[in-house]
Amino acid sequence: MGTYIVLMGVQGAGKGTQAVILKEKLGLLHLSTGDLFRAMKTEDTPLARRVQDLMAKGELIPDEVTNEMVKERIQKPDAASGVIFDGYPRNRDQAQYLDTLLAQYQERITAAIILELDRETAIKRTEGRRYSQDKQRVYNIYFNPPQVEGVDDVDGLPLIQRDDDNREAVERRIDLYFTQTAPLIDYYRERGLLKEIDADQAINAVAEAVIAAIDTTLME
Ligand code: AMP
Repeated sequence: MGTYIVLMGVQGAGKGTQAVILKEKLGLLHLSTGDLFRAMKTEDTPLARRVQDLMAKGELIPDEVTNEMVKERIQKPDAASGVIFDGYPRNRDQAQYLDTLLAQYQERITAAIILELDRETAIKRTEGRRYSQDKQRVYNIYFNPPQVEGVDDVDGLPLIQRDDDNREAVERRIDLYFTQTAPLIDYYRERGLLKEIDADQAINAVAEAVIAAIDTTLME
């Protein structure tokens, strides 16, 4: 059996940050649907253009497109021991699709971790995000600034902001989270898979809580 972790939480709750820590610790594939869609930016196809347009507005990509992309990705060899899903599933239909997909491989979700954060903090954290140019490091101008303002600590290059981290798109994504994605909390709770973690703590404290929650699940 593989280990399949769903990381849930509003934008800014720290899903990406925690996924990177977990990936190192557990040796699993980090599958971020948002990252896969952003990678389509360089493509010039009708689908890629539609995806870019929806993303820029903070809207969701249609389920068929998203589910198909996940299906293809988890068939690759680096997903063999399991996957950390970051930003997927985002609604009930995607959650049901994922359950069915994993069942085809005699697999199932190990745990669904919800990183809990209130709306105002979520907006500030998301709008304040800045990335190194290689996207390997993420800072926050309010909560986790670089040593020198606007500059990456490691390569010394100017930091960049994701183009969908503008106020309007951020608020739209956060609203969609509370209307469409938050109901998934009950979906996973009903299945006994939910682990609730307070995301309004230091990165390391959240990471310890996440790892403890997964360890408990694996021992059950
Ligand atoms: P994220 O980086 O997870 O905030 O995702 C960025 C954007 O990618 C979202 O605002 C959506 O447009 C798109 N996206 C990512 N994951 C999904 C998903 N599971 N379903 C639909 N759209 C998604």
